[in-house]
Amino acid sequence: MTSTENELSKLVGAISESATLKVDRKAKALRAEGRPVISFAAGEPDFQTPDHIVKAAIEAAEDPANHHYTPAPGLQVLREAIAHKTKKDSGWEVESDQVLVTNGGKQAVYQACATIINPGDEVILPAPYWTTYPETIALAGGAQKTVFSGADQGYKPTLEQLESARTSKTKAIIFVSPSNPTGAVFSLDETKAIGEWAANNNLWVIADEIYQNLVYERTQEKAVSIAETDPRIRDRCILVNGVAKTYAMTGWRIGWMVGPKSAIKNASNLQSHLSSNVSNISQMAALAALTGDQTPALEMRKAFDTRRKIITRGLNAIDGIECPSGSGAFYVYPDVRGLLNREWAGLIPKTSLELADLILDQCEIATVPGEAFGRSGYLRFSYALGESELREGMARLNNFFKS
Ligand code: PMP
Repeated sequence: MTSTENELSKLVGAISESATLKVDRKAKALRAEGRPVISFAAGEPDFQTPDHIVKAAIEAAEDPANHHYTPAPGLQVLREAIAHKTKKDSGWEVESDQVLVTNGGKQAVYQACATIINPGDEVILPAPYWTTYPETIALAGGAQKTVFSGADQGYKPTLEQLESARTSKTKAIIFVSPSNPTGAVFSLDETKAIGEWAANNNLWVIADEIYQNLVYERTQEKAVSIAETDPRIRDRCILVNGVAKTYAMTGWRIGWMVGPKSAIKNASNLQSHLSSNVSNISQMAALAALTGDQTPALEMRKAFDTRRKIITRGLNAIDGIECPSGSGAFYVYPDVRGLLNREWAGLIPKTSLELADLILDQCEIATVPGEAFGRSGYLRFSYALGESELREGMARLNNFFKS
């Protein structure tokens, strides 16, 4: 450690680089060297943002009203559109001052934790979990209580597991459906049971609904929101959402949080010092996404569903891999423990981290190891990539693990 490193903040120094972004960076660097790497690591749609959304942004850029600071919590017209979407998709009737527009869902997750957690509070975090949650809990001074569920449970915790993690210090639970990294979607009954349990115990719920509209195996168009299952939780519930995934808008950086007025007011004050308003141009693009033609979004969802079937079939065809089909988001999360402690190309991977490295070196395929999401033994495959690349990736893996 250098002498200046000693002087830096321990809190911030303890944050590690996002593992998913790190793998993606490595894959892109190898590709830049000319190696034909296929990346299953990216957490973003490969599609372009639909034309009508881009057009709305161009028009917004030409309007001088958008060239200046606007209110920190977001443009009124967008807050109203988000309130409308929240009623439609999450079954919760909110007023526009219960909505805060953020720089992506990520800032909403950070602000949600910062707004409700006091030092020493415990937060129940179902695992496998998205890599950002532990860091945002820690930054708020909270203590993470992990509850792990494996492939045999469809990666969903039971109520008994959650209850046994609860103590007198438990302040909140993070609830994510559909899930990143597993693609698991909680049914109405499962969601309701967790909502009732949280309400009975006066817990806060941070419900990350960013993949809410990307569900495949149900007749409904969206995942069930925990906010609609038990109205009692709405006093202590923060919904996190955004346009990134549904509308292929990861680069536009528009997310939001919805919650009780007092929490949104505090979060908005925090944001007013952190980043002020989100880009007006992006806000107007998000408005077009939410209120305009939904056909392109539905077509993207259809394409994801086709790819999901291809990848699940491809992975399950490999001896040693067990892959639940995942019914939402654009990830599958195979259990790869059957490939560990065996010799492949002269190497014996003992962890999924080592297996992911081996696959990258030998098959030129990038995946994110389970260690990034809380436990070794799993790999996350994103299927947000073209069908031919996807098939080629499956063929490479199949050939390699046959040997
Ligand atoms: N929540 C989850 C579960 C995610 O996977 C992501 C993106 N990987 C986000 C929130 C944040 O998305 P963004 O900041 O791009 O809106």
